[in-house]
Amino acid sequence: MWDGSNDEDKNDHSRGAAGGMNILSVKQHCSMQNVMAFIKSNFQRNQLIMLFPVVVASTMLITSLINPVGQTLQQQFAFAQENTNVLSSTNTTFPRIHNYTSSPPGPVNSWFIEGANGIVIIDTQRTLSEAENALNMIKQINKPILGVIITHPHPDHIGGTAVLLNGTSNIPIYSTQLTYDIMKNDTGGLIALTKQLHGDDYPDQVVLPNRILKSGEIITIDGITYDFDDIGPGEAGDMMLIYLPKQKLLFTGDVVNDRMHPALIEGRSLDWIKQLEYIGQNYSDARILFPGHGQSGSPKALLDQQLEYINTFKSLVEQQMQVTGNITEEGKTRIKSELQRLYPNYLHVASLPLSDMLDLNIDAIAKEISRTPVKLIAIFNAKKDQGAKLEDILVKLLAPTRNEEGNLGYVLYRSNDNSDELMFDELWINQGALDFHLKQPYLLTALEQIKPILNSSVQVRTFTEVLR
Ligand SMILES: [Zn+2]
Repeated sequence: MWDGSNDEDKNDHSRGAAGGMNILSVKQHCSMQNVMAFIKSNFQRNQLIMLFPVVVASTMLITSLINPVGQTLQQQFAFAQENTNVLSSTNTTFPRIHNYTSSPPGPVNSWFIEGANGIVIIDTQRTLSEAENALNMIKQINKPILGVIITHPHPDHIGGTAVLLNGTSNIPIYSTQLTYDIMKNDTGGLIALTKQLHGDDYPDQVVLPNRILKSGEIITIDGITYDFDDIGPGEAGDMMLIYLPKQKLLFTGDVVNDRMHPALIEGRSLDWIKQLEYIGQNYSDARILFPGHGQSGSPKALLDQQLEYINTFKSLVEQQMQVTGNITEEGKTRIKSELQRLYPNYLHVASLPLSDMLDLNIDAIAKEISRTPVKLIAIFNAKKDQGAKLEDILVKLLAPTRNEEGNLGYVLYRSNDNSDELMFDELWINQGALDFHLKQPYLLTALEQIKPILNSSVQVRTFTEVLR
């Protein structure tokens, strides 16, 4: 359940996601018996001792309350604390947001939106046993399930649907058409892979959505308004945002993962980055963001954190890439140890071993980078009447650069308005090829030679083709 404390945790990165996740999972079980049963089944004795005081404290703050429109996070936290132990009281302000997070490896969120008359589930866990735990939590709330929403078609968000429906029928299961198609066909084979990993604990067949949402569709369930925004392929083959405009609560699925190594295995980091920027611009009024993995919190902080991770990951891969786009085993090892150093406490979103998932992420991003051409424009302004001298130096770069394996085009232009201004128009097969070029001694020598005759520093701009 959300009780405001998540947002306090947000700044405490030293504690690490592992501890945070465990405690969060424990918090979700709404009775002391459940908490103890859960702990016994999930932790070793020494972990149990360490966790016990936290568990006791956590179970005191058992109520989740996100409702008063217009309150700041801090006000909400105060509000939640004031309402401690009011689960069975007469508080009638809805929605209340509850959370179930599975235990590692690959802790994944289900969010339960409790209205006056029932519950809407966002994402249904990975395994059948985790879905059973989540169902126990729903039973404590003691209201019927009014709908299930699937944010994206990855197996860790759809495996437990049958368990959570608990034998009831005619409940709408919402998704986009594309998510439905990917689930039905298992495009990419991730559902089969997850079945292989979990055996009997994963369904033979995932329950398919029965109500297709159009992007921009707005529906009201139990008096609560839901806006759906299909933002297309990214982390998975299709990603849908769910926004509660009145309460300003944003559910992003795996577009955002809090302090976790995300799944970059589908190699669409460019789209993903664009989606994060889109959310920042179009949901700037959102008060709380609820991610697919990790803890809820400030939208801006979570979006920035996710952007930073993806950009860092990409530049680490770029650094290790050969011109051809290949990456060596040593290169991979270097990337992985750098990731472990930069993000020491990060869990990861998959049930695969961490190293395997990072290998898949590296391969996918290297492939993405290697097939993304880069356009570069460089403008040189010489001091007055030094244009001819500048041109003499730059023209010598044409032949060796055009001989480089990764070069697709390299043309020198002189300005029609100013003979002291020259420009290179360059096209590279990928960022790796450009990086390789920028290290070549003949280029570095030329750049040294032109320094004294330049009026200002070289203006360099890079571009990626708009594909649609
Ligand atoms: Zn996921």
